[in-house]
Amino acid sequence: MGPYVDSVTSDEVLPAATSVVVIGGGIIGTSAALSLAARGIRVVLCEKGYIACEQSSRNWGWCRQAGRDEREMPLIVESLRLWRDMDRLTESATGFRECGVMYVAESEADEARFQAWLDMARPYGIGARIVLGEGLKALMPGAQGSYRGALHVPTDGCAEPQKAAPAIARAAQRMGALILAHCAVRGIERGAGRVSAVVTERGSIACEAVILAGGAWTGLFCASLGVRLPQLKVLSSVMRTAPVSDGPDTCTYLNEVGYRKRLDGGYTIARGTGYIVPLVPDSLRYLREYLPTMRKEGSALKPRLNSQSWRELGAPRRWPLDRPSPFERTRVLDPAPNRALNRQARDAMIRLYPQFRGVPIVQEWGGYIDVTPDVIPYISAVGAVPGLTVATGFSGHGFGIGPGAGRLAADLATGQTPSVDPAPFRLSRFNDGSPILIGPEI
Ligand SMILES: Cc1cc2nc3c(=O)[nH]c(=O)nc-3n(C[C@H](O)[C@H](O)[C@H](O)COP(=O)(O)OP(=O)(O)OC[C@H]3O[C@@H](n4cnc5c(N)ncnc54)[C@H](O)[C@@H]3O)c2cc1C
Repeated sequence: MGPYVDSVTSDEVLPAATSVVVIGGGIIGTSAALSLAARGIRVVLCEKGYIACEQSSRNWGWCRQAGRDEREMPLIVESLRLWRDMDRLTESATGFRECGVMYVAESEADEARFQAWLDMARPYGIGARIVLGEGLKALMPGAQGSYRGALHVPTDGCAEPQKAAPAIARAAQRMGALILAHCAVRGIERGAGRVSAVVTERGSIACEAVILAGGAWTGLFCASLGVRLPQLKVLSSVMRTAPVSDGPDTCTYLNEVGYRKRLDGGYTIARGTGYIVPLVPDSLRYLREYLPTMRKEGSALKPRLNSQSWRELGAPRRWPLDRPSPFERTRVLDPAPNRALNRQARDAMIRLYPQFRGVPIVQEWGGYIDVTPDVIPYISAVGAVPGLTVATGFSGHGFGIGPGAGRLAADLATGQTPSVDPAPFRLSRFNDGSPILIGPEI
């Protein structure tokens, strides 16, 4: 079972028409809806399950510039700016705070990568630095063992995944957006060569534009429209502890464990590496695009046949819009966590901070991360379907960049000047002759 998520009261009446329909109530869809509603644009958000039921409530909660691909830097800097104002804007506690994010160097290769990243990030003026010796000890109070150094970005932060997207959805609602939970979108209708309506399980909504922010489902949705959107799923497992006093405040990543102090005083803990990749028909379909990343990541990825493999094997890629679609058959993608990986993370945390010994694990969960071949998102118009904008493929780091990404998607869907240059995020980048560039993700 997934983590407990703050609730959002769904609107009840399906409107006949609106300006923009947003598909998906994760951090991206809710941020897009808030951005549109704040501009006075009519918007309806349709979510097949409940707000933040998938990745957006299951993540670690880090809002980090640290280690970002250079192509994402302008958007993440903008997102951090939006996060800092989020509690005021939403009139809620999203839990955002500037606690800093740190990557600990465990080898010479790590040090070299961190230094190269620092050189790239310098023009952004985000205060990124290498910490050593006493400075590092101060950021890991009570830690056992000694480390070579760490990359520290003090202007990074974190928010509470079980609170943020619901708070943003409620704020959008207050500003006029309609939020329809338990309302899967089965497909899109076109008229005069462009999007004219979405067909939901509860009826159709005429609209001028659609933002598709369907997370791990977006590739399938696009396939049903005849659009190729390379996307694969990666299983990640997480747990949270009961409150711990005197623990570290900075979100910190080591190979064996990543940890974040939560607003409730507990910690969200997971293994830093070790992702399970279910083998599915899309693994073959998109092999060409994914080969460079697979070679780079090597043993960090663990390909497996699992329940998701069987679910996707032989599953339809097109369906009639007057019958239940795959989005209704699996309301919430809720994979079981890999308990062995979680145990390893807990043991590593205890070795690092002995005060975690005996602290109860309150909950464990799994989440499917949607990953693109170059590990940066698609935030893009879809050339083959005028009126459709996709915002997906956030590849394990979409929570922090969510507010800016949702806003950028809203810009693109309504023809506004984009808040940052969207070119790196174009959907066509894998078939327009561009080389596949994989960033320094560290
Ligand atoms: C374990 C884990 C740890 C992570 N840690 C971090 C982190 O620390 N920092 C960070 O920045 N990111 C992190 N991420 C990544 C981050 O959670 C995601 O990138 C981000 O939440 C993606 O948001 P989204 O809105 O695109 O997708 P989602 O949150 O998955 O939302 C998509 C929504 O669309 C709905 N939907 C799909 N199809 C339809 C349809 N046809 N009709 C209606 N609704 C539909 C789904 O039900 C779902 O609710 C992590 C992810 C995981 C799983």
